[in-house]
Amino acid sequence: MPTIVFFHAHPDDEASQTAGAMARAAAEGSRVVLVFATNGEHGEVPDDLGDGEKLVDRRRVEAMNSAAALGVSRVEWLGYSDSGMTGWEQNHHPGAFHSIDPTDAGLKLAAIFDREDADIVVGYDDHGGYGHPDHVQVHRVLHAAARLAARRPRVLEATSNRDLTRGFYQAALAAGMADLAFDPDSPMDDGLPFGTPEAEITWQVDVSAYLAQRRRALEAHRSQQTDIDGMLALPEEVFAAAFGVEHYIEPGAEPGMRRGWPFAGELGGAVTAGRADPGDKPR
Ligand SMILES: [Zn+2]
Repeated sequence: MPTIVFFHAHPDDEASQTAGAMARAAAEGSRVVLVFATNGEHGEVPDDLGDGEKLVDRRRVEAMNSAAALGVSRVEWLGYSDSGMTGWEQNHHPGAFHSIDPTDAGLKLAAIFDREDADIVVGYDDHGGYGHPDHVQVHRVLHAAARLAARRPRVLEATSNRDLTRGFYQAALAAGMADLAFDPDSPMDDGLPFGTPEAEITWQVDVSAYLAQRRRALEAHRSQQTDIDGMLALPEEVFAAAFGVEHYIEPGAEPGMRRGWPFAGELGGAVTAGRADPGDKPR
């Protein structure tokens, strides 16, 4: 079974994005390692922090609980600072993840890939799904690290299926649930639409058997109420539709989305012709 390293920008991104694949891979016997780029210091501050407890302390505990719910074997922190949203002055603060040379951060991540002898590594698409500076940086650093690793791992980029999301949006509007509606074609943080068109996605992964683990992972991040409560409040059938599948781009793969399980190591490697060169240099 392959060793898989999931690289995320902030604590809670693993729960909202790749939790299904993480839980399924762990349940099927893979070693699953979770790496966070930042400490998430610009998250929502809960009003029940204890004496001397900082937001980042709370978020580390929450991340460990989420990881336990998903069957993660090990959690690592690169320790960079959260950069805030596009245009915030924090984008350029010393130590802000967004401001780090991708090769420098890539060396730290590659050291983890090497120590784990990672077979598969997972980050984000080239605009981080919605343009958050730290998520875009995850894409750059992931590819830099994959090139720097002693043994080139397969690279997968988590993304969202814009066409599928549009279908949910139109269905929510038609059902009079405008408060649940999210228009993926509206400009996101970076001015671009949400996620990736289906035609540019490689894998649709069925994780519908792992909704309970996903829910526990989301619940672990309860300090981030504004984001997390909205997901947990979805009607059960909407939650299942939204989180029962995940989408991944495999750089270099033949075009066309297939339904399958790309985390099975070499068995899943039918479309990995491009694995040696993701064709994306750090910018
Ligand atoms: Zn994030």
